[in-house]
Amino acid sequence: MNYVRSPVASMKGYTPGFQPDPRERYIKVNSNENPFPPSPKVKAVLAKMNFEDLRLYPDPLSLELREKLGALYGFSPAEIICGNGSDEILNIIIRTFVQPGEMISFHEPTFPLYRILGILQNAALAPLPMAEPFLDPPFPPEECKVFFLANPNSPVGFFYPTALVRKFAERFRGILVVDEAYAEFARENSLALAHEFPNVIVVRTVSKSYSLAGVRLGYALGNQSLVAEMLKVKDPFNITRMTQELVAVALDDQEYLKRNVAEIIRIREGFTREITYLGYRVIPSQGNFIFPQPPEKGRGKKFYEGLLERKVLTRYYDVDGLRDGLRMTIGAEEEMKEVLQVLKDLLPQFWAK
Ligand SMILES: *Cc1c(COP(=O)(O)O)cnc(C)c1O
Repeated sequence: MNYVRSPVASMKGYTPGFQPDPRERYIKVNSNENPFPPSPKVKAVLAKMNFEDLRLYPDPLSLELREKLGALYGFSPAEIICGNGSDEILNIIIRTFVQPGEMISFHEPTFPLYRILGILQNAALAPLPMAEPFLDPPFPPEECKVFFLANPNSPVGFFYPTALVRKFAERFRGILVVDEAYAEFARENSLALAHEFPNVIVVRTVSKSYSLAGVRLGYALGNQSLVAEMLKVKDPFNITRMTQELVAVALDDQEYLKRNVAEIIRIREGFTREITYLGYRVIPSQGNFIFPQPPEKGRGKKFYEGLLERKVLTRYYDVDGLRDGLRMTIGAEEEMKEVLQVLKDLLPQFWAK
């Protein structure tokens, strides 16, 4: 007897970035984690967290967080839902809106989880392959139920202006999910579209910009009639007490967030300039990561291995459209100086003979 559902048995599952032994000294720029610690206010709350309270369930509706997020972005709590990372939010979206057999779509290359969640829901997948220069992306098919648009894109880092996302929203009759995991590092965002269009959901996370990937908190902003249905689908107590408390203070410290983000952008722009000068190709990034490509095409794997040998952990994707380079997170200034030196050392291998 086959115990496992066939879509599960035949798929590969999400491959997380390699997590090295913390005692080994790697420069870890493979998971788009933030190199800076979270706000010191988070540390203070963590230190005096109430041990006794751990026996109690958390607020199932994360109301304080939704109020804070609402005040920050100009939404009402009824237009916001919190999730155990934006990964859970994406999962809730699929389970709320997509019947088995209905179509979902996304550009490719993109964040690999959309495909996995679609397979698990027995959705019909209609990926839209994209090629450079990425300026004129294909629109979703008419009958598509949910379209996932990662903006800024991951893993390449390019960005669609809000005016273009607006065209998607205007033309598309299904639900447009704008995954803004990196929005804080970008020039513009689609929050206004989530207000204006009843079919636009913006998904955010504290993992990257707030340096809180370890606490797991993502959220979605959108029309309250959609959010009300999503609230029925989420796990009843999906956000732990600890997460609710820690994220609340992190959201209060907007000044720290802004400084942290400005610093990453400064390092990103400087590093991009330096390696472009060396001869690497970098598509301009609006995230906290870049996708550098050696001068010779198709050498992403060799590039990845060269970096790994020198203890720099990056992310290589063995899929169409991504074999020319690799994804590299923007780390702290000192780390990026070391990485720059490694890129200089590797370069002679990539000039075609
Ligand atoms: C990191 C990332 C996520 C997941 O974020 P979590 O909140 O940590 O689950 C979702 N979408 C994209 C595009 C990401 O890069």
